[in-house]
Amino acid sequence: MKRIFSGIKPTGHLTLGNYLGAVRRWVEEEQYRTDALFSVVDLHALTVHHDPARVRRLTLQAATLLLAAGLDPARCTVFVQSHVDEHTRLSYLLECTAADGELRRMIQYREKASRAEAAGQGVRLSLLTCPVLMAADILAYGTDEVPVGEDRTQHVELARDLAVRFNRRYGHTFTVPRATRPRVGARVMDLQDPTSTMGKSHASPAGIVHLLDDADTVRRKVGRAVTDSGSELVYDRAERPGLANLLDVLAACGGGDPRDLAGAYTSYGALKKDAAEAVVELLAPVRKRHAELASDPAYVGGVLREGAERARAMARPRVDTAYRAIGLLPPG
Ligand code: ATP
Ligand code: MG
Repeated sequence: MKRIFSGIKPTGHLTLGNYLGAVRRWVEEEQYRTDALFSVVDLHALTVHHDPARVRRLTLQAATLLLAAGLDPARCTVFVQSHVDEHTRLSYLLECTAADGELRRMIQYREKASRAEAAGQGVRLSLLTCPVLMAADILAYGTDEVPVGEDRTQHVELARDLAVRFNRRYGHTFTVPRATRPRVGARVMDLQDPTSTMGKSHASPAGIVHLLDDADTVRRKVGRAVTDSGSELVYDRAERPGLANLLDVLAACGGGDPRDLAGAYTSYGALKKDAAEAVVELLAPVRKRHAELASDPAYVGGVLREGAERARAMARPRVDTAYRAIGLLPPG
């Protein structure tokens, strides 16, 4: 059976982008057809300015939401990254495998570094090295596939490069993983700025639909989505990004092809209304289940404890092998 790993950072409240680009596929497909690990990757949330209490709260909330969305702990391993030491143990070895230049080229590093600088917050060294930690997250488990949104493709490429390089230098240790993307919804854009992706850590919430937004909030945000001025409704991501994004969201929620859907509408108003209702319907059961699970933190805590134990047992032997392969003397 294929092994897959994927993660979500507790840098903000989970968004529709996270759901359509990642979580929904984990729930509906991956947990059934693969041996899957899903992690709230909290160490990655420390790479940008953060509030400790908020990260702790968002970590529990993200884990609760993953279960609310339908991850079944009997079918997959759900855990918090910092509960399993193997991630940071391996990350250091991979820092000794990666080159400075290849990390500085990462698009997300450039974007997030300039955002941090603009906010006068300074750029943390961990922001530069976090793709190496992500490679460790993936490689520690012998992962075959990493189901991610489009924004993460470059990072999975790095994990591949590091696996190949490590194997060549020190002998075969790691499986070389590959990224897989959803058919639709791989890149949900900000409703107020359809040229940038909808990201949970972004400053302005007006263009971001959160999984826990109530129905009226979703309707308001989708209703105010920025569209273009053309009178004909055609699907064109480059020229008409706002419209294309709404069509993508509608298609991702309800099935169908965004190009065909474009032909079915003659007004922006009708399209927005249908898109909003489709999102409301999609999120309603997740919100309801989240409320139930949030009132039982002991259950969620138990799932995470068991998940971390399983994850540790899976990662440990491979990371130990890597320690020996790279030249470290095993403890006597
Ligand atoms: P941040 O704002 O901190 O970068 P994020 O919302 O981009 O957070 P991540 O935790 O980095 O979310 O990513 C979790 C998963 O969600 C990844 O698989 C990522 O590819 C996917 N994802 C994130 N944003 C989108 C989006 N706008 N559309 C589709 N998939 C997305
Ligand atoms: Mg992002």
